Amino acid sequence: MTDRLRSVLAFAGARWGLRAADPTALRQLQERRLERFLATTLPRAPFYRAWAGKPLAELPIVDKATMLADFAAFNTRGIPLDRALSIALDAERSRDFRPELDGDLTVGLSSGTSGTRGVFLVSTAERARWAGVLLARLLTPASLRHLLDPRRPPLRVALFLRANSNLYGTLANRRLAFSFHDLLTPIATHLERLRASPPDILAAPPTVLRLLAEAREAGGLAAAPRQVISVAEVLEADDRQVIERAFGGPVQQIYQATEGFLGASCPAGRVHWNEDLVHLEPEWLDAERRRFHPIVTDFSRTTQLIVRYRLDDVLVAASGPCPCGRPSRSLDAIAGRADEVLWAAPLAGGDPVAVFPDLLRRTFTLIDGLRDYRLEQHGAEWRVRLDPAGSRGDVETAVRAEVLELARRLQVRPPALVVEDWRPEPLAGEKRRRIRCVARPVPGEIR
Ligand SMILES: [Zn+2]
Repeated sequence: MTDRLRSVLAFAGARWGLRAADPTALRQLQERRLERFLATTLPRAPFYRAWAGKPLAELPIVDKATMLADFAAFNTRGIPLDRALSIALDAERSRDFRPELDGDLTVGLSSGTSGTRGVFLVSTAERARWAGVLLARLLTPASLRHLLDPRRPPLRVALFLRANSNLYGTLANRRLAFSFHDLLTPIATHLERLRASPPDILAAPPTVLRLLAEAREAGGLAAAPRQVISVAEVLEADDRQVIERAFGGPVQQIYQATEGFLGASCPAGRVHWNEDLVHLEPEWLDAERRRFHPIVTDFSRTTQLIVRYRLDDVLVAASGPCPCGRPSRSLDAIAGRADEVLWAAPLAGGDPVAVFPDLLRRTFTLIDGLRDYRLEQHGAEWRVRLDPAGSRGDVETAVRAEVLELARRLQVRPPALVVEDWRPEPLAGEKRRRIRCVARPVPGEIR
């Protein structure tokens, strides 16, 4: 089967296969696919031979460290870590992301926030299916009509990425044209290219979308893409507002990592889990069972196996069925990463408790006249840098009041808040990190 055909079949299956499906039909489809994966693909990776024939729940939970420690055992092609890593690093350095391993494998690096970078292998066949599903989940009916109409020019997609990927080479054809924008290139160059060739679909991290939105509002960018898609970072409320105002429509979100294509947003504004490809187990982080770390099993993979793989993202579950009618489980938000959780001492005593990033972000959204901020925990201290639109004094007073209010609601002791001077950061390929726990308080430090 050719890769083109694989993409088309994956597209059709994801777009129309489960159209009117109810949650029961989706569960059954997932169970069937998962069973087949466990029986045929799983035993091909040495790490899992001992578990052949066992149900998913009996397999070990793994994470990035487990996988990197025994890389060759987790893939079905026996590729060792040093070989994969040298290909990936060469590509990063040369910014040429075409090189492949063993004829058909691409190596991806996940941007590690907590030190180690993840390394991932994907075959051309997996990539083709992945691409098909991605398009199926994202294209609006208008974009799909454009794509399928041979009389119109190709559908143009502008992608802003930290690293290019062979994925998009797989997808490109006469009806679909991709332009890759390297995040390491200055924004002025991007604006020039977007003016010369206005995209129908614009996909970028929200920090970049916001810069483009501001350029558009200032008259520096006439392009009016039909779809605007946020990738790679958490889409925060303030950025969303500016982007939607400038481009005159809703921003879609993709929840995707090198670990897999995990979910995409729906018209009702939730992010739906790709349950036809990926099995999800929540590891609950709070008593109300709202926030969790996902433990994912991607049963569409055949090269590097992602089985009960724990991600350090903090997700917020949505309650009840989604008004959009899709049967898959949905999220209210991707709140952030584990290192965006800060810690505070409960009024009732005992060990520090988690203050989740979605609550922190909302607290800062409430403050008028605040353009940007950084919040870091250093042990007992919460250090905050503020970029006020007007008077710093007013904004600082408002921040202190909102943090006190948050502490009151969570019944924790107000943190020691230290306000520091704002310093702008360059727009590099790095993800923006507004909130970060640099050092957790040691027990007793903040009682
Ligand atoms: Zn929905």
